[in-house]
Amino acid sequence: MSSGLVQAAYIVAALFFIMSLAGLSKQESARSGNYYGITGMAIALIATIFGPDAQGFTWVIIAMVIGASIGIYYAKKVEMTEMPELVAILHSFVGMAAVLVGYNSYIDAPEAATHAEHVIHLVEVFLGVFIGAVTFTGSIVAFGKLRGVISSSPLSIPHKHKWNLAAIVVSVLLLIYFVKADGSMFALIIMTLIAFAFGYHLVASIGGADMPVVVSMLNSYSGWAAAAAGFMLANDLLIVTGALVGSSGAILSYIMCKAMNRSFISVIAGGFGQEVVISTDEEQGEHREITADDVAELLKNSKSVIITPGYGMAVAQAQYPVQDITEKLRSLGIDVRFGIHPVAGRLPGHMNVLLAEAKVPYDIVLEMDEINDDFPETDTVLVIGANDTVNPAALEDPNSPIAGMPVLEVWNAQNVIVFKRSMNTGYAGVQNPLFFKENTSMLFGDAKESVDAISKAL
Ligand code: NDP
Repeated sequence: MSSGLVQAAYIVAALFFIMSLAGLSKQESARSGNYYGITGMAIALIATIFGPDAQGFTWVIIAMVIGASIGIYYAKKVEMTEMPELVAILHSFVGMAAVLVGYNSYIDAPEAATHAEHVIHLVEVFLGVFIGAVTFTGSIVAFGKLRGVISSSPLSIPHKHKWNLAAIVVSVLLLIYFVKADGSMFALIIMTLIAFAFGYHLVASIGGADMPVVVSMLNSYSGWAAAAAGFMLANDLLIVTGALVGSSGAILSYIMCKAMNRSFISVIAGGFGQEVVISTDEEQGEHREITADDVAELLKNSKSVIITPGYGMAVAQAQYPVQDITEKLRSLGIDVRFGIHPVAGRLPGHMNVLLAEAKVPYDIVLEMDEINDDFPETDTVLVIGANDTVNPAALEDPNSPIAGMPVLEVWNAQNVIVFKRSMNTGYAGVQNPLFFKENTSMLFGDAKESVDAISKAL
């Protein structure tokens, strides 16, 4: 393939990636968005492999077969609730790739026509390795936290922000030295080690409830790492793709920050200024229990019902019986709607995907902001496997680790039924005062079994 043809293929692939992002921004078009992405990537791979710069064809094919087999195996095996872990570990690969490309490009530097070009190349190498190394360890820690092998509570070492600042300042000084010394392996290695520690510390300092922002932030970092690799390899498509991922990840992080009422800057700085963390995981009074039959009775006597699902609905795969009772209640003339918190579940849009899968009509699935004012006029709220996203402590307790995060204000309804298996806390590890309110009753058990039982009673 001539280099002109490769460039043309790259432009077509880039257009497919842009169409893919546009498609993925709406539920209805998400499937076609995925197909555009696959098409763009196939064009990009073919153009790269058959392009004039490619060497070691056999090795590339062997690597692709091994990589694709591992990818297909995990994609088939992964549960929806494990998706964020998978995404986090994939981000770590992008980070490591940028580090390796950086070292390779440093050792096997391309011929520079001018001194300025040489300096630019050195800066590209240094920045690419830095971003890649931060992304690598940050993503590994995010993976560990999401998988539950690393504690989800924030690591709080003394003077943590000063350590972060020191890491940046030393890295900038090393960059200056690196360029002045016309490329020093020593400076590059020291910076890599600092960046590994920095990435680890940034993410380890962040508490469980803020993990969604971290995952989208790392998504953005991985995009910039890929763009940096694109500069080092002089590959335009990698630069464009990296910039698309980097900026769309940054926009998603911004949206998540707004949803969580966090400042964008403090996210990048790591730790969100959570210096005061008072554990509130002890129980806070008496709770009442209710049976599935009584819930069915209560629902039949309600005029309006709001269902707020959370991570537990996903674990139990309760979306199908939930759709079942929704249909039954609507056929009785009862107004049923869903209230979706932006970070419910374990990945952005998690609840929307599950409800769409069970064929819940889109028009009764509302965002938190659209439905929050309607709770006072609602007879019954069913909180199905949600916890942090309906926790009044976020609004009432300034010392809570989730203080300031907007939540679904379910407690303003007449009756609240909470479906869960125990009095355990949610992902943020914070006890929920909702469970002890006068108008709340607990329906203990697996969410799917409980909803099935209600469906039978209806
Ligand atoms: P939570 O994680 O706060 O709570 C889920 C609840 O579901 C638990 O209290 C658990 O209680 C219950 N549960 C678990 N399994 C079952 C089951 N089989 N049947 C019934 N109940 C069950 O969920 P939310 O959705 O309210 O909040 C999401 C949390 O995850 C937030 O803190 C968010 O920040 C974080 N997060 C979100 C991400 C995202 O992108 N959306 C990414 C990473 C983290 P019990 O054990 O008693 O049953």
